[in-house]
Amino acid sequence: MRVVGLWLAILVSVPFVVLAKSTVATGVAILQYHHIGDDTPRVTSVTVAELEAHFEFLAENNFTVLSLTEAAERIEAGTLPERAAAITIDDGWRNVYSEGLELFKKYNYPFTIFVNPKLMAETPRLYMTWDQLESLQNYGATIANHSQSHGHMTWRLENESEAEWLERQRNEILAAQAEIDQRLGQQPKLFAYPYGEYNPQLAELLVEEGFLAFAQHSGPWGKYSPDGAIPRFPASAQYANLETLKTKLLSLPLPVVQSKPESMIQSGSEVRPTVELTIEQSEQYRLSQMNCFYGSSVIQPQWSEVGDGLSRATIELSSDLTIGRSRLNCTVPSAKQNGRFYWYSHPFVRPDENGRWPD
Ligand SMILES: [Zn+2]
Repeated sequence: MRVVGLWLAILVSVPFVVLAKSTVATGVAILQYHHIGDDTPRVTSVTVAELEAHFEFLAENNFTVLSLTEAAERIEAGTLPERAAAITIDDGWRNVYSEGLELFKKYNYPFTIFVNPKLMAETPRLYMTWDQLESLQNYGATIANHSQSHGHMTWRLENESEAEWLERQRNEILAAQAEIDQRLGQQPKLFAYPYGEYNPQLAELLVEEGFLAFAQHSGPWGKYSPDGAIPRFPASAQYANLETLKTKLLSLPLPVVQSKPESMIQSGSEVRPTVELTIEQSEQYRLSQMNCFYGSSVIQPQWSEVGDGLSRATIELSSDLTIGRSRLNCTVPSAKQNGRFYWYSHPFVRPDENGRWPD
């Protein structure tokens, strides 16, 4: 009887043996800011004191702050440090210079400012001047591309064909880059989608033109992040709180090799899409403990094995998408480092009945 019992134990245990990969790379937590100040719209603002607390936290906790270009090289080469972060500031508001300059000088971190040349020309009083941007280059800034005019890039004009729409967007991107390069000398090809909105055609266009393109869904940037949809952590307003920001700065990139739905922009009828994530198995994390969050609900995925050391999570939203932008965040606890999480975020846009949505 004892022998039979032993055999049973072996037979039962075999299906649970996982062909685990022994190392999983770290990632880069990209912080995303807009305004610096306390008299600007709170939802897109960080105060000087909050920004200083973030910069100080990075210094005190042994983070290596990388430029986006160096981060890309080190992800590619597999030479990221254990803790890496990057700093990005969208829109080029004038307060970034007036409120931020002292901190940029003091900490001397590399950072990237994404600007809209056409808007700078139209309403100069709101934005930093080219001279100010040039002087920030002396304190670590890279000046990069946020399109000419900060529109909802996936929106088509009335009677515009898909080819015409794509050509118009190519011009939005390339004309902005030409002006930045002409004003400041050739800059690396880095693009931030206005409002973080993109579709597969835009992502493909940017990669084809040699850009790395940054979005606004959260998660650390790692080797599995698509070059046309790199995640960033919003760090303004309620997200400026260091207690929650800490967890994000320490998060690790979940190796998601494939995800569905393919486009963040849902058609009018897709109000409750099913998300499918194909993820590498690893002894570094506990996939069975993955939790996904949408709005205030916590969702446990359904799992299936797809072979080749991959598992597939099927995530059914428990409520309809809200109109406009939203995201599903999924976290998996590290099996090796207490308190660190592997993180993946899936962005959505649900259009209204006219195919539009608010800023
Ligand atoms: Zn913007």
